Amino acid sequence: EAKKNGKGQVVFCSGKMKKDVQEKMMLTSSLYRALEKHELTLHYQPQVSAESQAIVGFEALLRWNHGELGPISPAVFIPIAEETGLINSIGEWVLLTACVQNKAWQDKGFTPVKMAVNLSLEQFRSNNLEAIVRASLKQSGLEPRYLELEITENIAMRESDDVIPCLHRLKSLGVEISIDDFGTEFSSLGRLKDLPVDRLKIDMAFIQGISQNSKDESIIAVMIHLAKKLGLKVIAEGVETEVQLVFLRDEACDEIQGYYYYRPLSKDQIECDIYNISTPDLAKD
Ligand code: C2E
Ligand code: MG
Ligand code: MG
Ligand code: MG
Repeated sequence: EAKKNGKGQVVFCSGKMKKDVQEKMMLTSSLYRALEKHELTLHYQPQVSAESQAIVGFEALLRWNHGELGPISPAVFIPIAEETGLINSIGEWVLLTACVQNKAWQDKGFTPVKMAVNLSLEQFRSNNLEAIVRASLKQSGLEPRYLELEITENIAMRESDDVIPCLHRLKSLGVEISIDDFGTEFSSLGRLKDLPVDRLKIDMAFIQGISQNSKDESIIAVMIHLAKKLGLKVIAEGVETEVQLVFLRDEACDEIQGYYYYRPLSKDQIECDIYNISTPDLAKD
């Protein structure tokens, strides 16, 4: 089938494209109800000290278990949530849930660690991000230093949308701020010194180059060096192999996150496998 678009060009719409569009419309309408239907949950991926191998934090990662379609990847539904503005209500739920969970683990007597939460640009544009973060901390009782906010490099480097003043206000609440997927955008390294950030997260794409591509190795070494010189901590994302781990440790990378140690896990898996407490269900026998 072909039709004319506004500029008078003929646009072909293949069966595949049509199916993709229909699928996206379907997901969009069900995402509107996903929160109230309790289809959204958080998984938590441990972050490990490269030196001691102790868990020093978690990253909260959204999961959507669609009623009929089953699990939908964040790579598919996060962009939809951003386009529709739903990320504001979903993101508010994520912040509160992650803070409440972290406080609950502390109350059970586990060593206090950070909980990292991902933020989208739309949440900065909504103008009440600071109030939402403040409310999540207050309602959960979590100390601000145990909450970390992750923003991607392109959000952090934005001149518009008042992102940088907002980051300063968030920072003054006492939370930590990290730059996610670091190295993937063409940002000015010089601007890093003006941003209120605590950590860089080296993107998985570079980690995959370890022992494969000496240029990736050089870039990682320079990023770690830069972070140290600026007084920032550095964590490597997507570490899957021992070879990668050994390289990163040799380069004095502070922390490691990746399948080599842990995949993102449900609350129950964390409590069972990591904290060794059995859930009431498993306990009764
Ligand atoms: P991200 O923040 O960069 O999160 C890291 C992603 O890498 C996660 O994918 C994680 O499961 C995956 N990962 C961790 N270790 C490994 C590894 O060793 N190997 C491989 N192959 N992958 C690894 P996930 O959970 O699918 O999330 C994808 C993206 O969706 C996240 O990337 C983040 O940008 C976004 N996202 C997830 N949850 C939220 C949320 O609550 N809010 C917002 N705004 N975005 C979110
Ligand atoms: Mg992240
Ligand atoms: Mg990342
Ligand atoms: Mg990412």
